[in-house]
Formats: sequence, C-alpha cells, structure tokens
Amino acid sequence: MRAKDEFGPEYVLEVFDAKTGMQGVMVIDNTACGLGKGGMRMVPDVTTEEVMGLARAMTWKNALADIPFGGAKSGIKFNPKSPQKEAAIRAFADKVRKFIPDLYIAGPDMNTTEKEMAAFADQIGNKMATTGKPASMGGLPHELGSTGYGVALCTRVAVEFQGKRLDGMTVAIEGFGNVGTFAMKFLSGWGAKIVAVSDSRGVIYDENGLDYGALMKTKAERGTVTAHGSGKVLPPAELFKLPVDILIPGARPNVITDANVGEVKAKIVSEAANIPMTYEVEKKLMARGVLVLPDFLANAGGVISSYCETMGWDEKKMFEVVTEKITNNTKLVMGRTKDNDTRAAALEIAKERVRKAMAKRG
Ligand code: NAD
Repeated sequence: MRAKDEFGPEYVLEVFDAKTGMQGVMVIDNTACGLGKGGMRMVPDVTTEEVMGLARAMTWKNALADIPFGGAKSGIKFNPKSPQKEAAIRAFADKVRKFIPDLYIAGPDMNTTEKEMAAFADQIGNKMATTGKPASMGGLPHELGSTGYGVALCTRVAVEFQGKRLDGMTVAIEGFGNVGTFAMKFLSGWGAKIVAVSDSRGVIYDENGLDYGALMKTKAERGTVTAHGSGKVLPPAELFKLPVDILIPGARPNVITDANVGEVKAKIVSEAANIPMTYEVEKKLMARGVLVLPDFLANAGGVISSYCETMGWDEKKMFEVVTEKITNNTKLVMGRTKDNDTRAAALEIAKERVRKAMAKRG
C-alpha cells in the first residue's frame, strides 16, 4: 500500500455492505486547507491504493486552485451498470455518513452523475453532502461549462503572459464533450481559430477554421463531428500531430506517449483532460520549449465551481470566481516557472499553500 508521508492521508476508511455486496473506500488525504473534497467514482476494480493516489492529487489541485478545500476521494467497487447502482450509492452513504459534511464532501466522477449525487445527498439527509447536484437541489451542474471555460481562460492568460495574442492562433481540441465544447466556444469567441476537433469516431480538420455553432449542430444532429462536411476527416490519433499553435487534449488519459511525443508540433499544450500524458512525457515537450499547462492548473474550473456551489452562489458569481482564480493562478505558475517546467512550479505553489495551512493549524 502507498506509504503515509508528512501530508497524509489522515483517514482511509474501507467499508463493505453485505446486502448489496458493495465495497468502498473513502480517503481523506489532507484537511489543512479545508474539508476534504473529491469525486466519488464507481468502478468494478477500484483499489484503495488508487483512491489514495487520487486523493493526494486532489490535495494539490484544490490548493493550487486556491479554494478552502483539502484533498479526498471515494471509490465504490461495484458494477456501474447494475440495477442495484443506487442501492450501492445509498449503502456507501450510510457507511461514511459520520464524516459528512464536516470532513468530506463528494462530487461526480467516473460513472457517477448528478443522479447519484442526488441519491447520496438524500441518503445522508443533507444537501451539503455533495456538489454536482441537480440544479433543482441548488447545484451548479457541469453543463454550465466551468471547466471548459477555465481551460480556455488559462490558455489565453498564458499566451498573453508570453507577450503574444490569442487572436488568430490555431487550435486542435481532442474530445467534443462537456470540456471540449466549452473550450471551443470561449476560445473561438476570443478570436482563436479552431481548425480541428475530434470525438471517438475521428477528427474533423479544416485549415480555414471550424464554426462553433455549426459544429454543435452537426454533433447534435449526426452524433459525430466527423459528419460535418467541411474539411478532412482523419483517424482520432492524427489530432496530436497537426501543425497548430495550441493543442488541447480533452478526452482521455495517456494520449501523448513516448511513441507520438516527437510528432507533436504545437507550441502550447493545454491539458483539459486529467493525466493526458505522464510527467516524463511532459518533460520531453518542455525540453523542446513547448509550454505545457498542467491538468491541475488548466482544468480547475470544475473544482472552483464546486466550491461556489457549497457557498450557495449563483452562476454569475461562479464565473466571476473562476475567472479570478484561474487568471491569478496561471500568472503565478507562469511567473514561478524555471527551465520551462510548469508542473514543478505549480506543485511547488500547491505544496507551499498546504504547508502554510498545516503550520497555521499547528
Ligand atoms: P465527456 O464524456 O462529456 O466528453 C468526452 C468526449 O471525448 C466525447 O466527445 C467523446 O466522444 C470523446 N472521446 C471519447 N473517445 C475519444 C477518442 N478516442 N478520441 C477523441 N475523442 C474521444 O467528458 P468531459 O466531462 O468533457 O471530460 C473530458 C476530460 O476532462 C476527462 O479526462 C475528464 O476527467 C476531464 N475533466 C472533466 C471535468 C468536468 O468538469 N467535466 C473536470 C476536470 C477534468
């Protein structure tokens, strides 16, 4: 099992429900900056070690986002397609209830949506038990686009920090789901030229630029961006090799690897997805002068929105807070970066904030 260190974890709770067969683990890694906040995933093969690693990642993400949350995560080992899914969520809620919401607040993650969040909060009997609830329960749903907006903003702030203009820069975006669509919407609105977008069926590539509204219509009516009509259709993996200024991996983990990193031509890689490449692969891009905007900086719009939800703020205020935090944190990371290693700078800032909070708490 992953070892404890100076930061945590503070609690590792493994639970089992004989009635449903649900096995679960809740890890509260570090609460120096605030109560533990992290998603609750349901996967048949989740392990305690994996959840510990994910909880630690949340400690750094929340600290870097500069929101008063510590790091935590939950994993429910259960078949997400089972008709007993809701019963398993409710059983998990019963087992961990004494930690909620003073030490842990859940949120949607793999195979859990606003529906599961509603069941979890209902079982606990407290709306504060989770974020990502339906709007009818006071939630700020992902559909508002906080993460994609944050990715676009982080990219723009970094470009301007380099003394350049986003206007006219070419962009390729992997994935046209929640994050990819909003990233395209805002980057297009700020004058960038989106030349390529992919989904699981392939890439649509048009050097003259793709229109956001028209592409949304194609995706809604035909189910895939590849049916768009204009430009060329390429296999999904070709997206990462295109001659663009900005590349946004925004769908799956580990898409840039030792095998294709040499073919990346973008000057900026803005990580919308979680872990689109390992740190070792990132370092290869950094060594070539590519600006990498690390995932826990670029895609923090979602956790900042979660914080706003716990404060009971509305959509307008949420976008204001995301704007302020992403702008400040991006500038801070850019200013602190040495040898083009943005991830090391971001991690250093996050660790400093956690250490400072730990010292304050004695
Ligand atoms: P989503 O399910 O809404 O969309 C995923 C998109 O990826 C879909 O368009 C799908 O067609 C596409 N896709 C699947 N396989 C693909 C392939 N082989 N090639 C290209 N595209 C493919 O998911 P999302 O919420 O947009 O999340 C995307 C990524 O962003 C994930 O890594 C997620 O962990 C990360 N993320 C999301 C949020 C959030 O608030 N939604 C927050 C932080 C990080």
